[in-house]
Amino acid sequence: MAMNTIPMAPANEFYEIRAIPSKGYGCFALKQLLRGTRILADSPLLSVSVGDYMLSDIEAAFAALTTDEQSLYFTLHSGHGQDAKLWPSRIHETVEPQERRRIQEQHDARTGDTATLISIFQTNCMEKDRGAGVFPHAARFNHCCNPNACFSWNAKIEKETIHVMNDVAAGEEIVLSYCDMIHDKPLRTWELKHYGFVCDCRACVEDEDDETTYAHLSAVRRFRLNELERETRLLRGARLEEGASQEDFVTKLVQMAALHQMEGDFTARLPALFLDIALVCEFKGDFKMAEVAAARAVHAKKDCQGADFPDYDKYANVLHRIKDKLHVVQKNKA
Ligand SMILES: [Zn+2]
Repeated sequence: MAMNTIPMAPANEFYEIRAIPSKGYGCFALKQLLRGTRILADSPLLSVSVGDYMLSDIEAAFAALTTDEQSLYFTLHSGHGQDAKLWPSRIHETVEPQERRRIQEQHDARTGDTATLISIFQTNCMEKDRGAGVFPHAARFNHCCNPNACFSWNAKIEKETIHVMNDVAAGEEIVLSYCDMIHDKPLRTWELKHYGFVCDCRACVEDEDDETTYAHLSAVRRFRLNELERETRLLRGARLEEGASQEDFVTKLVQMAALHQMEGDFTARLPALFLDIALVCEFKGDFKMAEVAAARAVHAKKDCQGADFPDYDKYANVLHRIKDKLHVVQKNKA
């Protein structure tokens, strides 16, 4: 039921939508765009308040839209028409009836032969508060496993924002990652299967076993990031001070920050790492190092989500506090 109209970007100076032979449409830079540029702040067209939504949730939200909004919804891409043989056909008997119905609804939408409310939702939805939403303009960006832009739901301004995270040349396609950037190829392939496509980016197409390829370098970095993530995960957040007492904890966080940057991952994970490095250094009394890390945290946070992001102030406050402490130390020395 998709209409034969060419999708339009909102009036903006950053990008336009162009047809890509055999791939539908994509978003292309109108000029050079530097890291940190917010190219879109998009309002939700349709949203549901729970993550494990049912068809009935989407139907209710859809019924509340205007006729124009309903038409716009059906211009969005749908990942239906998939081969049922490529998906598990049986639901385990221990699964609760409601969850069983949910799985069946999603399965039917993916393998059905027409675009439906749910197939479009599945293909385009992004996390929003505790649920998910469809953003008509953000939904037009294609996927790449090493993207040059990133997206976030900003609850303060109630918009989905897209920020450039790796400089984009004029005319280059602007792409997002629909999956977790540190996931390995089999996991990414499985995640992307839900959207109904096979990724043809360098990290997916090149031979990972060939040490001369980008795919190899990327796979090695993702593997190491997963290891470090597992080793540090439990000691971050509330148990950070406990982590600070471990000799190589900061080293591991610094390694992770370096690997994310090498991988081109300047998403919100990076400022979170810098912030933890700052807090550990502060805890240890190394205010100089703490200040460097906190400044980088604030900078990276602004780049990927903006200074209007809900927890941006937390970052800015840590930097201020550390600056004050450093100032006191330096004054006492003088
Ligand atoms: Zn890929």
